Amino acid sequence: MSPMLHKVVIANRGEIALRIWRACKELDIKTVAVHSEADRDLIHVRLADESVCIGPAPAAESYLSVPAIISAAEITDADSIHPGYGFLAENPSFAEQVEKSGFIFIGPHPETIREMGDKVAAIAAMKKLGIPCVPGSSDLLYDDDAASMRTAQEIGYPIIIKAAGGGGGRGMRVVHTESHLLNAIAMTRTEARAAFNNDKVYMEKYLQTPRHIEVQVLGDGQGNAVHLGERDCSIQRRHQKIIEEAPAPGITQEQREAIGERCAQACRDMRYRGAGTFEFLYENKEFYFIEMNTRVQVEHPVTELITGVDIVKEQLRIAAGQKLSFTQSDIKIKGHAIECRINAEDPRSFLPCPGTITHFHAPGGPGIRLDSHAYSSYKVPPYYDSLIGKVIAYGERREVALARMRNALDEMIVEGIKTNLTLHQDILRGNAFQKGIVNIHYLEQWLNL
Ligand code: ADP
Repeated sequence: MSPMLHKVVIANRGEIALRIWRACKELDIKTVAVHSEADRDLIHVRLADESVCIGPAPAAESYLSVPAIISAAEITDADSIHPGYGFLAENPSFAEQVEKSGFIFIGPHPETIREMGDKVAAIAAMKKLGIPCVPGSSDLLYDDDAASMRTAQEIGYPIIIKAAGGGGGRGMRVVHTESHLLNAIAMTRTEARAAFNNDKVYMEKYLQTPRHIEVQVLGDGQGNAVHLGERDCSIQRRHQKIIEEAPAPGITQEQREAIGERCAQACRDMRYRGAGTFEFLYENKEFYFIEMNTRVQVEHPVTELITGVDIVKEQLRIAAGQKLSFTQSDIKIKGHAIECRINAEDPRSFLPCPGTITHFHAPGGPGIRLDSHAYSSYKVPPYYDSLIGKVIAYGERREVALARMRNALDEMIVEGIKTNLTLHQDILRGNAFQKGIVNIHYLEQWLNL
């Protein structure tokens, strides 16, 4: 008998908590939902074998409270904790405390999370492992103005100043000319200190028209690892992804194998444990590593649909100590998948729009998957991320997936709150998106028209 987890604490909320519950249930693992006072009515809270209220609505007092989550695991006699994405998912001290308290952290070793969470350390590690990085990405910037100016000149303007501890698209500033450099470094540093409690900043070449392409990997922590192909996440606003698809349009099988194998090999070399994503910018047919995410991503379903691999179930098996049950040659990419993130927000101003969903109708039909915790009468709380669900469309070809997505967006009804459904419909009608040639600036340029 392969080892398996016994009871998982789902340390998250919303659609990803429901997704984790589904995977646990399929594998016959018991579940504990931990939730804030504002989240009693979430579907997975009702469905889980047990539930524990871990604090008031603000995330700092509930989903980010390490002692509250660990006590919930203790009182329910769980053996493991799944962090989902966001909240504590990439917090190395949380992972460490989970392990020190005798529980299994469903994710990489705390040390891996720590190293990859520091973007400068991550880039250094990746360079050693043979992963191509953005030109100029190197050391931290210190309080030496002359040295910073020299580095920028060597890299060549425009450059981008980034927070080493940054995330969520924040803590970045583009600099086009030397006269703005020192001020930009100072401002990014101040922001980074406030937002991430870490004022380390670094500099890299600012690529002007790249696409965002990322590679999904799975490693078992025992030296086995595979890649599951790539995703294109170029439709972004303020560095936040809105639409993702797999495979990335125009990427050839040879390119996929070359970059994918490098990532998989890097994972074998570092004995990577769990699911992970290597994020790259892609320009002029070259990949440039920007960061690694050491957790399940929002956009993981598009990869699941084209590979047939259930990434969350694999996370659970790996955490239980199982070896990967497949090798790279077993992974076959078939068809095309697109995901639209449905947010409770104004489709033009992007302001969040919490409130009660008075009427909800889910799209369906061939090739449609909906990962959502929303339902009629569900009250979207104002305290958290505005994501209320993800519509994912699969087709044997990209055109088929696109046509199904258009239908799904037309079918879907969410009344009572504003959503970005119409924005998605508009983007899908755009010529460049239909051709699959958009870069990371496309959406913002298009919105400014
Ligand atoms: P975060 O951790 O905040 O998501 P990333 O390093 O992954 O930050 O970058 C997020 C986004 O910022 C990228 O998808 C891209 O749009 C933009 N970006 C980051 N680095 C560069 C760069 N060197 N050149 C151009 N755009 C960049």
